[in-house]
Amino acid sequence: MARSNKKEEIFTLKELIDFAHKYLPRNYAPPDGFVLRKARGCWVWDTQGKKYLDMLGCYSAVNVGNGNKCVLEAVKKQLERGFTANANCFWEENKILFAKELAEFCEMDMALPMNSGAEAVETAMKIALKWGYTVRGISEDKGELIFCEGNFHGRTKGVISASTVPQYKDLFGPHLPGIKIVPFGDADELNRKINKNTAAFVFEPIQGEGGVIIPPDGYLSEVRKICNRNKILMVLDEIQSGFGRSGKMFAYEHEKNAKPDLMILGKALGGGLVVSAVVGKKDVMNVLKPGDHGSTFGGNPLACAAARASLRFIKEKKLPERAERLGKYFMDRLKEIAATTGKIKEIRGRGLWVGVEVNHDGPTAHQYCEAFWKEGILCKETREYTIRFSPPLIITKEELDYALRKIARVFVS
Ligand SMILES: *Cc1c(COP(=O)(O)O)cnc(C)c1O
Repeated sequence: MARSNKKEEIFTLKELIDFAHKYLPRNYAPPDGFVLRKARGCWVWDTQGKKYLDMLGCYSAVNVGNGNKCVLEAVKKQLERGFTANANCFWEENKILFAKELAEFCEMDMALPMNSGAEAVETAMKIALKWGYTVRGISEDKGELIFCEGNFHGRTKGVISASTVPQYKDLFGPHLPGIKIVPFGDADELNRKINKNTAAFVFEPIQGEGGVIIPPDGYLSEVRKICNRNKILMVLDEIQSGFGRSGKMFAYEHEKNAKPDLMILGKALGGGLVVSAVVGKKDVMNVLKPGDHGSTFGGNPLACAAARASLRFIKEKKLPERAERLGKYFMDRLKEIAATTGKIKEIRGRGLWVGVEVNHDGPTAHQYCEAFWKEGILCKETREYTIRFSPPLIITKEELDYALRKIARVFVS
């Protein structure tokens, strides 16, 4: 295994792992075999100097690559100007330009910056409900939001009320009222669930954590029509699917006339830094009045500088086209591997976003991922039997071939 030439150990691996178990609560369960330290492009190094090919891309948060130079330069420049969160009660240059550039990038009217993805989802839920009361005329406190079975929108208290995964919500109740659930991909059922109190339908165009689940063709356009007909908002969570991941800039572009009223963005938006946003049409966004909503660090100059550089990079390097082309290559090769091993049940994907569902009577996706880690490939299962690949979109064909050789070795052994 390739090692970086400089081995610099401050604490031993065992000491670090002991600290991890002592000081970090177990809300995640990382493997104890290695501790990451450094990342560049599609490669990540651990404290022992072993390198890994990053086939997870921080769940699609580093589409521009780890430690992207353009993002790094923009952040450095902003750091030198002073990186504290300028209070949101004063105008700040970077935040204004971020909103302008992001709104234009998304072909929307306005952009409201937040920090984490879940926080942006909460923001969209609030905007949708206030729009429901003030524009659609829903009686106060009767507003309803419809979500999909198997969704993932984050882990905050309000958002988990909409989850259908028991572990995400059990023992964290009581949960919010006014949430309805429909099967993902079923437009008829959505149509049936809408009533006079419905403010919005909030969903992912492709379910990421759910296992890279692609809805039937025509679903998004049909949802758009249903939302128009019933005068409810179509709110798309493009946190994982956005910024080129699926082979289009945003996943809704895979269908005609499917542009949402509000779009929720995060992950890749910041090029590796923490920033999320809600973008949307002005008649919807403008329901917010001074004092209605806010966040101390939302729209801070450092995050905005990173996001602006990341947006420029995604556009200039045409990352969606790249994802489309390389994603097709990657999936075709994976299908060849599947045909020779017989251990794979299904391969689903769009762009450089692929779910490999393994047979349910063999090793779990987690067990396969452990084998990949040993081979120097970072990826992560989602749900029990799906291995998800979502590498940085700057990945080269040669790097994909490297991953494919290791993947083949694990499946054939
Ligand atoms: C990751 C994710 C979120 C939550 O984002 P956080 O930054 O982890 O809060 C919400 N929606 C989707 C579709 C995601 O993939």
